Amino acid sequence: MSSGRRVFYRRHKMKIALSAGHTPFRQGGETGMISEYGLTMVIIGDLVFRLQKAGHEAWIIGADSNLEQIKRINELDADCGLELHFNSHTGDKLNGTEVLHAGSEKGMLLAECVQKALVDRLGTKDLGIRLGHFQGNVTKPIIEMLKDTNCPFIVPEPLFLSNIFDLSRLDPAGIAIALFDGLITYFSRLKP
Ligand SMILES: [Zn+2]
Repeated sequence: MSSGRRVFYRRHKMKIALSAGHTPFRQGGETGMISEYGLTMVIIGDLVFRLQKAGHEAWIIGADSNLEQIKRINELDADCGLELHFNSHTGDKLNGTEVLHAGSEKGMLLAECVQKALVDRLGTKDLGIRLGHFQGNVTKPIIEMLKDTNCPFIVPEPLFLSNIFDLSRLDPAGIAIALFDGLITYFSRLKP
């Protein structure tokens, strides 16, 4: 009995590549005291701990150069990956949660699982999943990571730092838990 259970867990161990969006030199969107980089660092660190505690392999991929990141993710032969970002907009009206994907079947499933987990936990407006890459029209550098990684890769944007309602929903631990739940749901829904 117990050996059968161990085999089950071993088969379901995942290798996940994680990146905190931005760097100390390009900290991304910010509002008042809260920078996008500071937030993504805290949440990705928390997520790595949760995944490793649950027996998975979680690797942090530095966000210094997209090309380096892509190379590292592909060398790792990861099952899937994500780079966390937060939206912001010059107006303060836009709000809600979205997840960018690259259009593959698995990538869309991963995006859907993470989107649902984020909206359920944060109570934010559901903006849905969105194709972050249009072939031949790479408008944002981050999108290279969606299209050039061998594994399904997504960019979750849990909320808008520029919106007062979304800021009231900001919960770093809750976001880490939602990302964890979304990843676990994704793996449970993959066809063998
Ligand atoms: Zn960003």
